[in-house]
Amino acid sequence: MCGIVGYIGFRDAYPILINGLKRLEYRGYDSAGVALISDNDEHLNIYKEKGKVAVLENSLADKDLSGTIGMAHTRWATHGEPSSINAHPHLSQSGRLAIVHNGIIENYASLKKYLAGKGFTFKSCTDTEVLVQLIEYMQQTYNLCVAQATRYALRKVVGAYAIVVMDKEHPDELVAARKSSPLVVGIGEDNKEFLIASDALPIAGYTHNMVYLNDEEVVLLRRNQPMSVKNLKNEDVNIDVKQVDIDIDKLEKGGYDHYMLKEIFEQPKAISDCMRGRLLQKKHQIVLSAINLHREQLINAKRFIIIACGTSWHAGLIGKQYIENYCDVPVAVEYASEFRYRNPVIMPDDVVIAISQSGETADTLAAFQLAKAHHALCFGIVNAVGSSVARESDTGIYTHVGPEIGVASTKAFTGQVMVLALFSLALAKAKGTIGQKDYEEIIDELSIIPEKIKVVLQQNDRIKEIAKTYTYARNFLYMGRGYNYPVAMEGALKLKEISYIHAEGYPAAEMKHGPIALVDAEMPVVFVATHHQLYTKIISNIEEVKARNGRVLAVVTQGDTSVRKLAEHIIEVPPTIAPLAPLLSVIPLQLLAYHVAVEKGLNVDQPRNLAKSVTVE
Ligand code: GLU
Repeated sequence: MCGIVGYIGFRDAYPILINGLKRLEYRGYDSAGVALISDNDEHLNIYKEKGKVAVLENSLADKDLSGTIGMAHTRWATHGEPSSINAHPHLSQSGRLAIVHNGIIENYASLKKYLAGKGFTFKSCTDTEVLVQLIEYMQQTYNLCVAQATRYALRKVVGAYAIVVMDKEHPDELVAARKSSPLVVGIGEDNKEFLIASDALPIAGYTHNMVYLNDEEVVLLRRNQPMSVKNLKNEDVNIDVKQVDIDIDKLEKGGYDHYMLKEIFEQPKAISDCMRGRLLQKKHQIVLSAINLHREQLINAKRFIIIACGTSWHAGLIGKQYIENYCDVPVAVEYASEFRYRNPVIMPDDVVIAISQSGETADTLAAFQLAKAHHALCFGIVNAVGSSVARESDTGIYTHVGPEIGVASTKAFTGQVMVLALFSLALAKAKGTIGQKDYEEIIDELSIIPEKIKVVLQQNDRIKEIAKTYTYARNFLYMGRGYNYPVAMEGALKLKEISYIHAEGYPAAEMKHGPIALVDAEMPVVFVATHHQLYTKIISNIEEVKARNGRVLAVVTQGDTSVRKLAEHIIEVPPTIAPLAPLLSVIPLQLLAYHVAVEKGLNVDQPRNLAKSVTVE
């Protein structure tokens, strides 16, 4: 999910690679590494370190950094904690092949078992090492060149990858391939040199001629020869060379003005990555090793306690509804900061779920440690692999949405909700508390949620226009019911965080118990009123606001007619089943907060007084 740079040509590769990695640092990562074939002794030198590119660089002072072919990598761990052993490049068994990889090999466990049966051993916990062993296995078994062995191996792979492979026996060749993870090739003058990278940034400055690889394409790069691209079936593919001029600042943000907007727009992919290998739509199965490993304890749990802060706490409120609804077991959702100091009752047959994007949230970690001391099963839902919460967990599920850089969390929230949905459904299936028909219906719907998020995102321009009419506001109310009540709270939090407008999220029926006193002609009230449970009730709540001249903005289901008559602005989302509504209805609220803040000229990615990872209590 992070960065790759490769070089083959006539210059020293190392400075190009290390500077390239620095240009990819904006993507976030936890370790870095480089491989070079030495000019001195043709040795394949691999250096890797946990931590920043600078740490790697500083560790190389007395090392052989010669070579005109090489590759480098920044890793965002998905399989195995961040460590120098798990960092890339990874070597094959014989030491002949080296690989760097971004992405996830979903079927790595079965491939690993197969290769182990053939005598392969593994040094790291990564899925990537399995792939390089598989390529070597193909190479040895069928006596293939590295490009062909890579194609053979990739035919067996399920998952996402951008890879570069080097073969020590062929220091004149670099092979690369992609599926669902970007790779760009830069072509030097007269094909004397080639660069390859996750985006155009490391290549800019060397050439404008670039080729964006497509899924399941394998490229062979050789000095002084035209590049050749084939698909996995070994057929030649046309090469489309583009002239690329770079706006570096924009490119770092994937062409978006801010990381937050980039991350909002990444949600269809992030959610797909989160479901990858877990939701098997055709088989109507959800596969979560976390459940298989602790099946009895999870099935027999008397209670779940979800501990979290901020946005993760809102995801927890949705998770509570999932687990209670599907698994018939009570769930408490706690602010970690309160829980840890309250002397809470924690029983050994409780399961405590900690939710944290960074996995370093100080209060969540402390609350989790408290649960551990009381012998509850500790279940982590985190994004950052190998983080403190992940390490404290007995078991858990990574959200796998990729690094989140904008301080206001967006894709991490939808990833957490998705994980909670998968978890509760898989557990309900194991407990027998969900009928097959319902189970299949939800699986089918989950599988098309990424496409529906794309439809919501198409309204970005409209939401931007709507946002302009609200920049004057000093206060906002957000209302929702059922599954959309935590969404209302999350929408309010987003607005507060980045636009500095005071906003409160409430269950809509609570309005009469206080907040309605605030409503006047100045007061924007955002209703999350999709067509689900309590829809008619929320219409009454909208009427109550209208009767007091409040300005109503509503998120509704496509084709809605009733709310349209009442609201000043509506934003439509595609229809879905009630439990999955939050995955769609939160998107317009993220965009609304974003555009209001941008209109006010504020620093969206680093709002005042806030930190991305709250490591202090
Ligand atoms: N899945 C691989 C790993 O955990 C690659 C992660 C990445 O994309 O950086 O090592």
